[in-house]
Amino acid sequence: MVKKASVLTITTLLTRLTRHYTDTKMCAADKQDKKFPDGMVPLGKDIFSFSCHPGVSCWLKCCRNVDMLLYPYDIIILKNHLNIRSDEFLERHVNVVKGPNPCFPSLMMKMNAVNACPFLGPEGCSVYENRPSACRMYPLERAVDRTATKGRAEEFYFLTNHDYCKGHAEDKTWTVKEWLRDQKLMVHNSHADRWAEMDTIFASSPWAGEGVAGPRQKLAFLVCYNIDGFREYMRDKNILSEFKIPATRVRSIERDDLSLLSFGYDWLQLVLTGAPTLKRRK
Ligand code: SF4
Ligand code: SF4
Repeated sequence: MVKKASVLTITTLLTRLTRHYTDTKMCAADKQDKKFPDGMVPLGKDIFSFSCHPGVSCWLKCCRNVDMLLYPYDIIILKNHLNIRSDEFLERHVNVVKGPNPCFPSLMMKMNAVNACPFLGPEGCSVYENRPSACRMYPLERAVDRTATKGRAEEFYFLTNHDYCKGHAEDKTWTVKEWLRDQKLMVHNSHADRWAEMDTIFASSPWAGEGVAGPRQKLAFLVCYNIDGFREYMRDKNILSEFKIPATRVRSIERDDLSLLSFGYDWLQLVLTGAPTLKRRK
């Protein structure tokens, strides 16, 4: 399920730590003694108690009055579950808000008339198989340190606990690894990591002097949050033909929203930062 009234979600925390580590020139002592947000201690290999089921007295409480940020992967899997276009999904279910990134808007799930998640049905979550990352991750929070010296990013998990949530008092215990497997979070995490890279680029205000809400930022919004709109834009401008891309990838981009999102990220990186993520045809 999902925590209530908190916007400290996976990518927020992840970006916050990433920025902390990249913006601060860490000395060796800092690296050994990582500075996590106040009061947050990584779980490591410790176990935690948690179980969420219809028998808990708080059943579905966390799906009401919730401040839940949505990320590009969430939008795609939810709009495909509902079999609607991404722009229709944004219109119906999303509020565009000023979130943790001062240079790029965030998306927040729009609550319904009775202040509940629009996907909350009488039996529980009506989009359970495709529920957003935040709903799967709770009661954990994830952070990634990209400056790790082991040659790969290092991830950390923290236990969050809300007074109203009685799941913590249940006997069932988990390791982080077991929870990630149970909630099918691996694929969400890999998309969250790519999104965090993009979010970090956006945070540097790479809008070439156009400022926020200029054409470049609107294009980035289209790629990240409105994949069906981006597909049309790409076809209209014949963007794929500008680059040397293997035929199998082209076919995948043409058929699959997630492949298109991945191409869109590469394209944005090239356009906004000049990074050689795609090879231009001569
Ligand atoms: S998507 Fe499902 S689990 Fe998440 S808040 Fe909505 S109803 Fe609850
Ligand atoms: S146990 Fe926690 S996560 Fe489960 S329904 Fe209750 S408040 Fe939500």
